Amino acid sequence: MLRYISHPECRLHDAGPMHPETAERLDAINDQLIMSGLDFVLLHSDAPYVTREQLLRVHDADYLDRIFATSPAEGYVTIDGDTVMSPGTLAAARRAAGAGVLGVDMIMAGEAGPVFCGVRPPGHHAERDKAMGFCLFNNIAVAAAHALAAHGLGRVAIVDFDVHHGNGTEGIFAADGRVMVSSIFQHPFYPFSGDSPEADHIVPLPLPAGTGSADFRKAVEDICLPALDAFAPDFLFISAGFDGHVLDDMSALALTEADYGWITQRLVEIADRHAAGRILSMLEGGYDPGALARSVVAHLKALMGP
Ligand SMILES: [Zn+2]
Repeated sequence: MLRYISHPECRLHDAGPMHPETAERLDAINDQLIMSGLDFVLLHSDAPYVTREQLLRVHDADYLDRIFATSPAEGYVTIDGDTVMSPGTLAAARRAAGAGVLGVDMIMAGEAGPVFCGVRPPGHHAERDKAMGFCLFNNIAVAAAHALAAHGLGRVAIVDFDVHHGNGTEGIFAADGRVMVSSIFQHPFYPFSGDSPEADHIVPLPLPAGTGSADFRKAVEDICLPALDAFAPDFLFISAGFDGHVLDDMSALALTEADYGWITQRLVEIADRHAAGRILSMLEGGYDPGALARSVVAHLKALMGP
């Protein structure tokens, strides 16, 4: 059974009028889960608040102090260009990061099969000491660090197929050989990083604008999957962004629901082969509500297996 972790407070983050990262993204996913019939076979759990101790594994103390102190009682505060805090942002961000921690705990306790965290704000651009690209706390990094620190795993892998390079995740683990990070992204494109990895456990897949299904799948098969097999992780994490969809205005990749289902199947096979099936996926980007929702359904069906 697939465990779906979220929380109503994830809707409370409001990045302001005209911002693409909206609560309606989660509404669209929920609607599509119901329409597809998938909702009735999911197990739902509410995300807890992440703790300061859990955040401190991947973020600096003074950065956390700054974010908590900046949280506004009313109105908006711009943290970094396109990263905005509203009165509900801190609660949403704490739920988003807490979702991954709960998912890891449930998987490690044998209480959950695959887990998907349908949360916002996203996290993969957030660095140790910097919010950016709609992200405050690096949710997937918090989850991976929790698997290492609280459950004693020796090596974990994070695959990030959001269309933007997962600079935050990569930077957080750049000097930690226990965490393989493979980001698949349009390049050159925001945040204009990731084309020169500095360690063997960092495996970027930059793809040119216009890349469609065939070249995407070939790159994943040629580079990402062999690296994962060689690394043999104890736990596989996914930063699942769907903004590379052909209908998503945010990018110039031309992926479809079928591609997201395909890569998810391949990643489930990796998790089954090396990690006793331990796999946790977290929502990152995806800004066309219909394409996002259909892609999430394809992703979840593949996570659940045949
Ligand atoms: Zn993105």
